Amino acid sequence: MRKHIVAGNWKMNNGLIQTETLISELKQQEKTSDAEVMIAPSFTNLWHAFEATRQYDIEVVAQNMHFSEKGACTGEVSAGMLKSLGIKTVILGHSERRAYYNETDQSLAKKVDAALANNMRIIFCFGEELSDRKAGRQEDVVEHQIKAALFHLNASAFEHIVLAYEPVWAIGTGETASPEQAQDMHAFIRKTLENTYGKNVSESVSILYGGSVKPANAKEIFSKPDVDGGLIGGASLNAEDFFAIVNAF
Ligand code: PEP
Repeated sequence: MRKHIVAGNWKMNNGLIQTETLISELKQQEKTSDAEVMIAPSFTNLWHAFEATRQYDIEVVAQNMHFSEKGACTGEVSAGMLKSLGIKTVILGHSERRAYYNETDQSLAKKVDAALANNMRIIFCFGEELSDRKAGRQEDVVEHQIKAALFHLNASAFEHIVLAYEPVWAIGTGETASPEQAQDMHAFIRKTLENTYGKNVSESVSILYGGSVKPANAKEIFSKPDVDGGLIGGASLNAEDFFAIVNAF
């Protein structure tokens, strides 16, 4: 079902002590919105974060996983390993993973299948580069990314998928897509879903926006009808800022 979601992607930040500190600060924040709250610490801190948030309305999710279940994949973590900790959701396809770690549409489709086979929920990220937007081909790029990794699935799989539109030019740059640019793309994504899977699916999938969302701009972005929440990088590392965004709904 379509829900409001605000997820914090901590990326490669915070050791154990900082994780403890940030989580205890998050627990002190008051939630006044209906948004589901998620945080994605690094693999090494997942277990601690999971334990520390047990009684709280904060879901701990993973930033990535491998598509294989086990074997000779040094340095990688499988869906089964995440599930063994109690992790139920994984972020896949973040632009940093696509750009620096060779993630392709093909490997992402395999990761999607592996996550679903393990009954995990997926936050699937995609978005165009600045050169794509300047050339006016942002919709083609986004359509291709979504179709290549997800459109082999049947309609019921979309109950386990959250989409995160993250224009690469807006990630960590301080540059945000305007609320209108976000809305236009989210409406396009919903239409793309509808064309293949029908309105039941397109109206029930949550579509998050990511790219320099801050307390100062969250309300306006979240006010758009097709924006169901945010994937937050930098601002998720500060408990007050993160909850100001959560409470922007
Ligand atoms: C992200 O990395 O997913 C992200 C949106 O980062 P930031 O909020 O820092 O732009």
